[in-house]
Amino acid sequence: MLTPRLLAVSLLTATLSLAAGKNFSGADALAATGKAVAFGPRHSGSPAMARQRAWIKQTLATRGCTLSVDAFTAPTPDGPVAYENIICRFPGKSGKAIAVTGHYDTKKMPGFVGANDGGSSTGFLLEFAATLQGRPRVDDVIIVFFDGEEAVRDWTDSDSLYGSRHLAAKWQSDGTNAKLKALLNVDMIGDKNFRLVWEENSASSVRNLVWGAADSLGFSSGFPRQGGPVADDHMPFLLAGVRAVDLINFSSQSTFWHTAKDTMDKLSARSFEIVGTVLLRSLELLEQQK
Ligand SMILES: [Zn+2]
Repeated sequence: MLTPRLLAVSLLTATLSLAAGKNFSGADALAATGKAVAFGPRHSGSPAMARQRAWIKQTLATRGCTLSVDAFTAPTPDGPVAYENIICRFPGKSGKAIAVTGHYDTKKMPGFVGANDGGSSTGFLLEFAATLQGRPRVDDVIIVFFDGEEAVRDWTDSDSLYGSRHLAAKWQSDGTNAKLKALLNVDMIGDKNFRLVWEENSASSVRNLVWGAADSLGFSSGFPRQGGPVADDHMPFLLAGVRAVDLINFSSQSTFWHTAKDTMDKLSARSFEIVGTVLLRSLELLEQQK
């Protein structure tokens, strides 16, 4: 039986853990990625993509966020394609917002299931939403699943980034971009061989904040300060003046990237957990900024 003092302590512990929320679980993120991959090749406009989309929305409905979509049809080299960005907002009270984003489409190629490329960002964001559930917020945190990151054929300015280009324009006109303290994009972060790119297009202030958070948590080896420019879903927001950073691991470029070998056995729960832990710390640091 609990003495009054023990009861008080256990109630305090329960309150604290509720306030802190769930820790980011790499194992849960990996499991969610596996469910996404099980839908098969998920290129934009495909039936498997539609099934995956319904599953993501169903899952988010249990996460306690406000769900909305940004649906549109865009011309592509293969004709018009219907796209849908999925948006999950956890409200804060500052009037400012932080976006955490990634893509959930896979490249249109026969047999390509994109465990790392498309899958890992999907599983990551679903688990990230689970960690935000019930956690008090200073700023709004907006989780976005971008559709149409991949080129329908070969990557060009017009054949790529369909979802992020559309949402950046929409948020420019409705004022959301002006409220964003930062946009943190993740892509291909599940690779066992964990080493992110010091992505040179990214806003240096936010990149420094994220890399500094990684250093403080003991993850410096996966966050080297060398890399090069990578075009990804953060680009349309950078062009709109948003402080955006891309967290991308391109170690797979010479091994399985954009091949049928991009499968679940290439991924590690540990890699997801490092990125999740670093981004939760980064959110805290951003929330301390005005
Ligand atoms: Zn890709």
